[in-house]
Order: sequence, then C-alpha cells, then structure tokens
Amino acid sequence: MEFRSPPLRDEAQDVTALLEALAPEHRQSALETARRLVEGARARAEERPYLDAFLQEFGLSNQEGIALMCLAEALLRIPDDDTADRLIAEKLAAGDWSAHAGRSDSLFVNASTWGLMLTGRLVDLPVSMTGDAGGFLRSLTQRASEPIVRQALRRAMTIIGGEFVVGRNIEEALRRSAREPALALASFDMLGEGARTDADARRYHEAYVQAIEAIAAARPAGQAMAGASVHTHSSISIKLSALDPRYALLHRERTLGQLLPRALELWRLAAERGIALTIDAEEQDRLELSLQIVEALMSDPLTRGREGLGIAVQAYGRRAPAVIDHLLERARTLGRALAIRLVKGAYWDSEIKRAQERGLEQYPVYTRKASTDVAYLACARKLLGAMPLVYPQFATHNAHTLGAILALRPEAQGFEFQRLHGMGGLLYDEARRQLPEFPRVRVYAPVGPHADLLAYLVRRLLENGANTSFVNRFMDERVPLDEVVTDPFVQLRSFDSLSHTGIAIPAGLYGSERRNSQGLDFGRANTLEWLQQHVLAETSAARRHCNFATAQELTAALQSAAAHSREWAARGVDDRAAMLERAAELLEERRATFMALLIHEAGKTAADAMAEVREAADFCRYYALQARRLQGSPTVLRGPTGETNELTLAPRGLIVCISPWNFPLAIFAGQLVAALVTGNTVIAKPAETTPRVALAFGALLREAGVPTEAVHVLPMEGRAFGEIALAHPALAGVVFTGSTATAQWLNRRLAAREGAILPLIAETGGLNAMVVDSTALPEQVVDDAIASAFGSAGQRCSALRLLCLQDDSAERILEMLEGAMDTLVIGDPAALDTDVGPVITAEAARKLHAHIERMAARGHLRKRCALPDGLSEAERYVAPTLIELADVADLREEAFGPILHVVRYRAQELPQLLAAIRANGYGLTLGVQTRLEYTRQRAFADSLAGNVYVNRNMIGAVVGVQPFGGTGLSGTGPKAGGPHYLSRLTTERVLTINTTATGGNTALLTLE
Ligand SMILES: Cc1cc2nc3c(=O)[nH]c(=O)nc-3n(C[C@H](O)[C@H](O)[C@H](O)COP(=O)(O)OP(=O)(O)OC[C@H]3O[C@@H](n4cnc5c(N)ncnc54)[C@H](O)[C@@H]3O)c2cc1C
Repeated sequence: MEFRSPPLRDEAQDVTALLEALAPEHRQSALETARRLVEGARARAEERPYLDAFLQEFGLSNQEGIALMCLAEALLRIPDDDTADRLIAEKLAAGDWSAHAGRSDSLFVNASTWGLMLTGRLVDLPVSMTGDAGGFLRSLTQRASEPIVRQALRRAMTIIGGEFVVGRNIEEALRRSAREPALALASFDMLGEGARTDADARRYHEAYVQAIEAIAAARPAGQAMAGASVHTHSSISIKLSALDPRYALLHRERTLGQLLPRALELWRLAAERGIALTIDAEEQDRLELSLQIVEALMSDPLTRGREGLGIAVQAYGRRAPAVIDHLLERARTLGRALAIRLVKGAYWDSEIKRAQERGLEQYPVYTRKASTDVAYLACARKLLGAMPLVYPQFATHNAHTLGAILALRPEAQGFEFQRLHGMGGLLYDEARRQLPEFPRVRVYAPVGPHADLLAYLVRRLLENGANTSFVNRFMDERVPLDEVVTDPFVQLRSFDSLSHTGIAIPAGLYGSERRNSQGLDFGRANTLEWLQQHVLAETSAARRHCNFATAQELTAALQSAAAHSREWAARGVDDRAAMLERAAELLEERRATFMALLIHEAGKTAADAMAEVREAADFCRYYALQARRLQGSPTVLRGPTGETNELTLAPRGLIVCISPWNFPLAIFAGQLVAALVTGNTVIAKPAETTPRVALAFGALLREAGVPTEAVHVLPMEGRAFGEIALAHPALAGVVFTGSTATAQWLNRRLAAREGAILPLIAETGGLNAMVVDSTALPEQVVDDAIASAFGSAGQRCSALRLLCLQDDSAERILEMLEGAMDTLVIGDPAALDTDVGPVITAEAARKLHAHIERMAARGHLRKRCALPDGLSEAERYVAPTLIELADVADLREEAFGPILHVVRYRAQELPQLLAAIRANGYGLTLGVQTRLEYTRQRAFADSLAGNVYVNRNMIGAVVGVQPFGGTGLSGTGPKAGGPHYLSRLTTERVLTINTTATGGNTALLTLE
C-alpha cells in the first residue's frame, strides 16, 4: 500500500495537534534530567572533544567561522596550488583571527590550533608565540602564498574533517571501531555527494556491498550465532540518492527499475550477513518515493523473518506523524519488524528555500525549532508505544529530547539512542554515568576519502554553528542553563504565532503587496496524477484549428486599437491593475489548460510549463503593482512658492508587441500586460508556431475585464505583420523579443518612418557562458550546466552555450557531465519523466544538426547522446550534444537548441577569457561557479551580461527578483520584470500651475 501525503493544513493546525504529546509530569521530568546532564557535562568541560570547543568559538555568527567553513568546504578539492593559495589568502584576510586567541581554554582554539596546522601534531608552542597569538596569526595571513601555509591549512582541514569521519575506507573505519570503545557500536555511512551518473551509482553500490561484507567479517566471532539481536552490533546506513542519479518521483519507473533492485540486493546481503541496514532520510520531495522502496523491501519474500531493516524519519517534516502511522500499519500487516531511526532532519534551510522557489502552498517542514522538538517527541511516543513491532532509534544530541524520551520510557529498554561521530559524546558519557541502566548508544560513523566528505562536513558545520542548535550552546558557559534547557511545549505556547513570523509562507514571499505565484509539488503522487489526468492527456485545445489573421483584419484591429486609445488611457490605473490581478487569478485557476497548451503546442515539459504559467501570473501581479506605483498619483516636485509642479506618466498610445515561440505564454503575456496596464492599447502578434496559447491568454484578459478594443491578438506571418503594423500612423512603440536580426529590421523600419521617433524595446539572443574555476564543486557545476544547457531543449535565450572550465578540474567535470547527459530522458514532453523534448520545428532541428555536423567535421564533437528509438516526430528531436572548442572565438553564432560548447582555460588567463567572452558583443547571461571572491568580482566587472548568476543555474529569471534582459547585441533594456520596464511604455508630462495668478500666493501669505 502506497503512502499518500495527507492534505495540506496550516502549520498552526499541525503544531496544535502535537501540543498534548507529553503529559506535564513527563515534561517536568524531561527538564530535570536534561538540566542534570548539562550541569554534569559542563563540569567536565576539559574532556570535551577539541572540535566542540573549536565550533563553539568559530560558529556561523562570526566571519572567522564562516571563513573556516568556506575553506573546509573547498580547499581539499582544489587541484592547483595557485588557486588554493588565492582561496587561503582571501579567507584568512576575511577574519579577525586575533579576536579568538585566548578566548577558549581549549588548546585547539588557541594559537596551538595554528601550530597544529603547521606541524600536524598538537604541540605546546613557545610562549613567545602563544603570548602574541594575534601577531602570529597576522604574520600567517601575510604569508598566505607560502607553501607551508597551504600545506598547514590543508592538513588542518583534514584534521577537522577527520573529527567527523572515522576512516578513509571501511577497513580503516573498522580498525578504529575495534580500537575505540566509543565507536564499538556504529552505523557506518559511506560518504558521497549523491550519484550524478550511472557509473557513480554503480561505484556507491559496490562500496556498500564491500562495507556490508567487511562489517560482517569484523564482527567478533560467535556474535552472529549467539542469537543476539542484529541491533547489538554495528550496522550500515545507506542513501538512496547514491544508488541512482535520477532518484525522484518524476522518474518513478526508472527508480523502481534500477534503484530498487540495487537497494534490494543490499538489504538481502545485509540480512544474510546479519547486519542491520537503515535507509537515511533525504529531501522531503523524495519522501513518498523512499517509502515505496521501503515497502518493497519489507515485502521481500526472501528476507521474511529477518530483522534489521530500518528507515530514518525526519521529525521536522510535517508529514512525519502520518509517515510513522503508515510504517506501523505496514509492519503490522506484513508481519515485519522494522527499525525506525527518528531524526530531526538535516536539510532544514534548503527545504525552506526550495519551497519558496517552487511557490509551494505550505512548507514541508516546521518553521519553528520548538515545533520540530515537539514533533520529535510526539513521534517518539508513537514509536515507544509500538514496541516491539518497531525498534526505535532516537538520534539526537539534545539533552531535553533525551530526557523526554527517558521520561516516556523510564525502564529504557527495547530501543537505542544514536549520535553522530564527533558530536554529543560528552552528553552521552554523562548520561551513562548518571543513569546506570542507560540504553545502548550507536554512533553514526561516516566513512570516505577526504575529498568526498566536504558536503557532509558543511552540513554538520552548519548544524553545529547555528544558534538554534543545542550542540552549539550547551557547553557555552555564557549561556545560562535555563536557556539551554527549555521546554519546547512552553516555548510554543508563548508565541503569538505558531508559524515563524520571520518566514512568510511561500505565497507571501513578496510581502502583502503582491502574491507569489502558485507552484506544484512534483514530489507528491497526487500532483503527478493530477498532471496525468488534467494536463498531459488534454490535447484538444492544442489541436484546435487556428486561422491566421489577414492583412485586412490587422488593419481593422489597428484602427480599433488606435480609436480606443484615449478611452482606455482614461480608465484609472487602479482599474487596469485590478484587471491584471484578476487575470493572474484566472491563469492560476486554469493552469491545467494553459499547461496542456504549452506542452502540446510548444513542446514544453510539465515542469517547464508549470514554471511558465507561474511567470505569466507573476508578470500580471508585478506590473499591476508597478503601474500603481508609477501612475497612481503624480509626483509632486519641489519648486518656488506660488506654483505647483507635478510629473505624471501618461500612456503612449498604441503599442505593438511581437513575441517568440520559446515562451509563448510568459513573454507574450509580459509584453502585453506591461503595455496595457500603463494605459496603452495593444496589438500583439504571437509566434507563428504557438498562436493557440496566446489566443487563450487574450481571451482570459477579456474575461478579466479588458475591453476587446484595447487588446487584439493576431497570429500572422511575421514579415507581413511587420510591414503593415509598423507603418500605421497611430503606432506609438514596439516591444519585441526574438532574434537580433529581426530586432535590427524593426529598428530600421521605425527609423524610416516619418513623424515622431518611436521607442523600441528589444530583447534578443546571447552567447551565454559559464565560467568555472577549480574551487567550484563539480557536482554542482554539472547539475547547473545540465539544467542551463539542456533544460527546455536549450531553447531559452538565457541558456548556457559555452562552458568555460579551468583546465585543472576540466576533465573530471567533463566526465561527470557526459555521464549525467546519458541519464537525460529525451522524448515526448507529454510523458512525465521527459527531460528534453523536441525543438520547435523540423526546420530548426535541421539547422542544429547542420551545426553539429560542421563542428564534428572539424573534430570538435565530444559527445552526442543517443536518441531513443521510435520517437514520434523524430525529425524534431536533437540529442543533447557536447562540443569542445579550442577557443572562445570559435563560437560565433547562437545554436538555439540542446548543444553545449566547452572551452578550457588556464587559471592565470581568466582576464583574457573574460575579454574574449565580452568580445562577442552579446551580454545576456553569465554563470560563474567559484568560491573565490576574485573570480566572482572579476567576472561581474568584465562582463557585458545583464544577468550574472553565481553558483547556481543561469536560467529561470524570476519576475521582480531577477529582472531580465541583456546589453550590447542582446537587447535594449529596460529589463523585463524589473522596476524600470513600465516607464519606457509611458511618456513623461509635467504640469506647472502658477497658483498666484488667481488672486495671489495665499499659501505664503497665510503662513504664521
Ligand atoms: C545517527 C544519526 C543519523 C542521522 N540520519 C539522518 C538522516 O537520515 N536524515 C537527516 O535528515 N538527518 C539525519 N541526521 C541528522 C539529524 O537530523 C541532526 O543531527 C539532528 O537534527 C540534530 O538534532 P538534535 O536533537 O541533536 O539537535 P537540536 O539542536 O535540538 O535540533 C536541530 C534540529 O532543529 C531543526 N531546526 C532548526 N531551526 C528550525 C526551525 N526554525 N524550524 C524547524 N526546525 C528547525 C534543524 O533542522 C535540526 O533538525 C542523523 C543524526 C544522527 C545522530
């Protein structure tokens, strides 16, 4: 039985349902235990691990902590010394290191820290050095380019990493586990960044197999035979994202076909060897899918009767209580024991960000820390109540959480606690010391080479560095005991609002003035079913016959729009803005229809179609807001007494809008509503290939109250339209998005007109580059390059065309990129799992193929994906292709499809590279992937690009957030979706009235 997410409720409702989870006497007991534990641990402060002291001093609240985190994240992966030195110099210069010297009595934080870095050993440095730690550190900063400093810092990062990682490989980790009592009971985790390629997934799978075998082999002889529970010895934790690069609900069939057999093999092997296996919890949008995998493992007939299968559940997830109910029901029905590891959750900040970006109705996680704590205890109670059907594993480092669990089950049997290696050791030592019957404590023990531990490390540093984190504060004597140990139930009751007032729900992201557009949660099966039924199967509108307008019809429309200009202009801006807001509501109500049109008429994938409907709705709301600001009331200008001066922005008159096929709704709507809301009447010509969606939007505007005469949508062949429309005497301006060549034609036509000189807003193409230095994270580069170059089949003007890789890390990135390209699903956009649909026409495909052939003939072809057999309309498909060029200048024209060009550059040649990119004359988008301020600043300063994106993809500009548009050959500006766009569609007028003419300066004369 599949898990179905419960219907969404307000966060306050979810939290209220938890508030009675603990009886008052349990809460009291929890507080008392927690206080005793913290007091006991604080009294033994000298025993705390170096790392605890280090993190307490260098947290996220100070520059130095952040600098060290940046170093830790990037330094070890940088292959070339020059770049490593630059990063070190930047990060050391960013901090006031002497402020920390002597602040902690821990050797690790004191000047000896740096001695440790320099020598690799913890040494007592001479007094001369420790006495003037600040001076010592200053001199270190100045010597940043010396090899010794680089070596020292690399070693230091390895040491910090080593505090979190138990071994570089499983053998090393097992040896350490045998040696150190604290690590005797562990759950080993093979570190990795999540597979990007099938080769990665196979490698991780193999590593898990080896680890299971090694853990089993290392088990003391006889333990397996003794009939003891699997939970009495060390186990393994696995991440499903490591087993398949496309682990997502949209790729459910693939996941079940590829990932499931791998997971099943691992579980069978673990069961066979008597090793417990836990599936880690990852992002919330993978929750439903992960439960399908668990269900399949639980139902496996070959492992019937074996204990040891486990899953982690994140209490910060608002579905966690429902997930636990579901798991308990499945365990009961299938007659399978299950281990459930209850964690709070490690991805809170990214869950919040993702939900905002996707315009989700609700956050999938709580927004208050106390809610997470309370939810944890509500879930814990369910688990404790279901023993022995489940074996609860409580993963926490929080003394209150620990105390509350002991309050709920004082006999403390039948479950275990878990902690992360490097965290919480002292707390659990103290618990064991104070409470003789304390249950077993398992340590989550990450294993992996240092280069792979970075992402893990940063997550842990973030976790520990946050002020809300228990670990961050509990040993800090400056924080009173009552602040460290608080009752989250009391805390919640003290808030006016149960949702965090500093974190608006995604719809409220832009405050009260404008609602964020609604997105869809592609991680829920309900959404995908809705898509299937109401969007993907709905082809009728896209098949409807569509007549092109004749020259006579165009002329009549121009006459009508011109004649109606004054009347429309006379409507107040409030009226017009309200119509746009109504249009946005209608768009969202009918998103199924519009998405279906985009998919079936324009070849968009479901995700792209969704994003486009959102963008159109955002344009409506944003321009409504801007128009009210600009035209709501005149700007009163200061001047001499006795006269008034007022500036107003008046409509221009009749505006012609010409839009392209690649965003047949968003760009079409954006141009049109901008012109309309400022009081202009509009003739809009959609692209020849995508008239239906445009006509549907025109009809929607009329429904929203825009008079028929004010807006005319006329599908027509471009040149014929232009010849007539641009010659019309009433024309007051042109808004165009499309090719540079057409923009120039329009410009010349306008210039040749007699009479008033008219404005042209043109947004054109680009030769967009992404500059990647060797500090960048390869996985992120690959994700962003794939999305930017092949998303929408490369048919975005913002798309990445030229990937510029520093040669030191180029090969590694290219290999990963090629592997990731192989996982792309090319095919019918009406299939849910399609990543790359067709290009717009067979003619466009032919041109792109000709480009690829030309490049191949010159020996530049590096990779061309295979097209699947049996594609209908095969002539419209272009397989994602990678072309390696020797020089930036070799790319002269925009290939508007899924073709990515690559060049390599040397670190010292960054300025020349940027100059070469600039020399192509375009300036639309630029991507930069770096951890160096130097690269970021240089790239921004040296580029013409209108939109520069750092450490993210370079597509999908959001209205009002990333106003979009280029410079140079890429367009005239002003930027679409920006605060200056509307003013170009208006004309400025100033009214000066001499108020003294009618009887003297009364204002002045009546002054007291
Ligand atoms: C053995 C073990 C295994 C683990 N496995 C996983 C796993 O599979 N998946 C996973 O995601 N994590 C996993 N973790 C990490 C775990 O989520 C964190 O270590 C845990 O959240 C820390 O909780 P705490 O009780 O120690 O700390 P506390 O400091 O009490 O709590 C920190 C928690 O509060 C949350 N939080 C912070 N601010 C807010 C806010 N404003 N609103 C709501 N919540 C907030 C944080 O995200 C975090 O979850 C594991 C941890 C351990 C010990």
